Amino acid sequence: MMNSVRIALKKFPQNFIETKKLHVSAVTSSHIPGPLTQFTEDEVMMKETVAKLAKEEIAPLVKKMEKEARIDDSVLKQLFDNGLMGLEIPEKYGGTESHFMTTILTVEEIAKVDGSVAALVDIHNTLVNSLIIKVASEEQKAKYLPKLAQQCAGSFCLTEPGAGSDAFSLKTDAKKDGDHYIINGTKMWISNSDIAGVFLVFANANPSTGYRGITTFLVDREMEGLTVGKPEDKLGIKASGTCMVHFENVRVPECNILGEFGHGYKYAAGFLNEGRIGIGAQMIGIAQGCLDATIPYTLERKQFGNNIFSFQSMQHQIAQITTELEAARLLVYNAARLVESKQDFVKEAAMAKLVASETALKVTAKCIDFMGGVGFTTDFPQEKYFRDCKIGTIYEGTSNMQLSTIAKHIRKAYS
Ligand SMILES: Cc1cc2nc3c(=O)[nH]c(=O)nc-3n(C[C@H](O)[C@H](O)[C@H](O)COP(=O)(O)OP(=O)(O)OC[C@H]3O[C@@H](n4cnc5c(N)ncnc54)[C@H](O)[C@@H]3O)c2cc1C
Repeated sequence: MMNSVRIALKKFPQNFIETKKLHVSAVTSSHIPGPLTQFTEDEVMMKETVAKLAKEEIAPLVKKMEKEARIDDSVLKQLFDNGLMGLEIPEKYGGTESHFMTTILTVEEIAKVDGSVAALVDIHNTLVNSLIIKVASEEQKAKYLPKLAQQCAGSFCLTEPGAGSDAFSLKTDAKKDGDHYIINGTKMWISNSDIAGVFLVFANANPSTGYRGITTFLVDREMEGLTVGKPEDKLGIKASGTCMVHFENVRVPECNILGEFGHGYKYAAGFLNEGRIGIGAQMIGIAQGCLDATIPYTLERKQFGNNIFSFQSMQHQIAQITTELEAARLLVYNAARLVESKQDFVKEAAMAKLVASETALKVTAKCIDFMGGVGFTTDFPQEKYFRDCKIGTIYEGTSNMQLSTIAKHIRKAYS
């Protein structure tokens, strides 16, 4: 099937490179960099294409997916057909071969319409694909990237019942047996696991060395001994399948070790740092979608003979949350641009996720207030946006964990 996103990107292949050149010259000349909301033509094309797809193909199914607590098959097919499940995967493996900022804009646009689909696209691209693109062997890339770009979702299996914020205390182990490893353990809260075909599993293959034994394995769904539990019944992002994944004597060939033996903790920490920017994008998308659904109502709804937007106290609150959302968006875009320009971004990524998730909670709660009673009903979308964004302060590191990361960088800078 023709791929509109790929066509969009091919049309202007040189633009991103030009932007990078400009960035470098900015350091050495008097060139003034543009605002953070200035995009390359490729990025603009992607934003518009994804916004259209979200409006036409995802929006009509949001209520159905929420009720059935699963991503609709037709939505999944659209994501694959339009190259959104292989955003940064090179074209030679069937991907779209775009860049990190494009992924961020894609997640934001989808989240304006549905937080669950945004979670699927975000985790699949920023955690699973990204790790394989950057550390897998050529054989592993040839085997897994085409599948992930075109037919099956991926899951990132780090958290366990006893290892959440303290993720590297994980107990899942991998014992060597000839040219195989035998994996045993249970992973919890694994997104996309209801539909995933590929699982990146963090297991300790040398517990005597503590977290330095943590190794990443590529595990196929059909491998014997892997079972996926029933999806959790959650407060929000209900259509995003979050399940336990059990490993009972799962025999994985040694060649399925991803990257270097014992480097799993580095990969998990490193890629979650990037993934957090994706969660930030999900949060600003949800907040913007909610705001977009609310402001027109305030201009229509009349009380005391005037539309409710006309009251100064309403205007000030609307101006306040719109400003806070813009500030959160700029933090997210700045962190994404830092990643793209290969500069330090860990502190900025933590700040972006922290502010974006806390802001999304505030914006969506305010929007419910602005709607009055109807905002509290399921007839209007505000309550879903409010529930969907609560996850932002929890997954890929709670707000406390982001604060700890930021504090660590502040201490270092002043020591
Ligand atoms: C819907 C959903 C999807 C998820 N998807 C995935 C996934 O795909 N893959 C995956 O591996 N994991 C996933 N997770 C797991 C998620 O990353 C963890 O839930 C999160 O890291 C928090 O861990 P926990 O739930 O065990 O909470 P805990 O670690 O028990 O934390 C509970 C509270 O204690 C606080 N706390 C803990 N330690 C400290 C400390 N040192 N200092 C200050 N405060 C502290 C926390 O901030 C939090 O407020 C998902 C979770 C959910 C709910």
